Amino acid sequence: MVTLTMNGKKIIVEDGVSILEAARENGVDIPTLCYDKELSPFGGCRLCVVEVEGSKNLVASCSAKVKEGMVVYTESERVVKTRREILDLLYSNHPQDCLTCEKSGECQLQDLCYRYGIKEGSYKGEVKKYAIDSLNPVMERDQSKCILCGKCVRVCKEIQVTSAIDFSGRGFKSKITTGFDNPIDYKNCRLCGQCITACPTGALINKQLKGTRPWEVEKVRTTCPFCGTGCNFDLNVKDGKVVGVTPNPDSPVNGNSLCVKGRYHIDFINSPDRLTKPLIKKNGEFVESSWEEAMTLVVSNLKKAKEEYGSDSVAGLSSARCTNEDNFVFQKMMRAAIGTNNVDHCART
Ligand code: SF4
Ligand code: SF4
Ligand code: SF4
Repeated sequence: MVTLTMNGKKIIVEDGVSILEAARENGVDIPTLCYDKELSPFGGCRLCVVEVEGSKNLVASCSAKVKEGMVVYTESERVVKTRREILDLLYSNHPQDCLTCEKSGECQLQDLCYRYGIKEGSYKGEVKKYAIDSLNPVMERDQSKCILCGKCVRVCKEIQVTSAIDFSGRGFKSKITTGFDNPIDYKNCRLCGQCITACPTGALINKQLKGTRPWEVEKVRTTCPFCGTGCNFDLNVKDGKVVGVTPNPDSPVNGNSLCVKGRYHIDFINSPDRLTKPLIKKNGEFVESSWEEAMTLVVSNLKKAKEEYGSDSVAGLSSARCTNEDNFVFQKMMRAAIGTNNVDHCART
């Protein structure tokens, strides 16, 4: 363990952690734009700089490790002045579209400009302007709002393991690009949307959630019905209707990761083709019935088959779209109530 002093208070942390991790563990809020605890440190935005006694320059706390006896100031006058300057530079080269931006209300750049009192960029001159990439059905890229934090590049490479995007150009012309600068979904991108979650600004947007303000939705945690992995996420519900999905970092199975199905395919929920009542075939036609009538029919037919032909004449096939708990109960019913081991699952393949 290492003992250091942070803002005048002694703290003890594990050797080898960064100053940023030490601060967060001890309830000290150091702002960041390019840091994500799931990704390798990048040290690009420099907002996490802190003052370390004995060090001539300010130190990027996301990359610098704690040392025994270190004395750190996370919000000194010099630190605050530097953060304001960085935010001013970023916001000067930015569309300043907060009033109508889809990200407004959950944008980290907006929050930090508010925290450090940046109302408008004081550097006047050329501002980057890119065409919006919106050809695919689920995702919109507005590179004019990109602050080059590189989170999308790292999440795509390190977590999605796809490397569909990377930095290109230098200086003012730096940008995040796809292979040959094609639209995002052209070849390699899986449209998994991990980069949307990682992006701190409105540069990457989930199209399904466009037109929905973050404060208008109720978030309801649930388990994805698409496969047996059991990912959790938050359904975004507006006026009683599911309008989109956002990952929940506390999900034990998947954290912020979701596949393209879980993240986007909400259309079946309100589809007129969806079965919402049991259907029983009567005189060759499917007819809507009550659950009680349907279950009574299933039970009597299963009993009849068991009595006439024995337990092993019955087999049960379960679904990867049910939860583990549902599948457990199903195999229990087949074994205990029907008395057969003929039970299988569509995900066996
Ligand atoms: S990305 Fe953030 S800072 Fe930029 S216009 Fe949108 S809300 Fe404002
Ligand atoms: S959607 Fe997924 S695969 Fe495509 S660029 Fe983003 S992280 Fe990479
Ligand atoms: S698109 Fe978003 S996540 Fe990617 S570098 Fe730009 S601001 Fe960062």
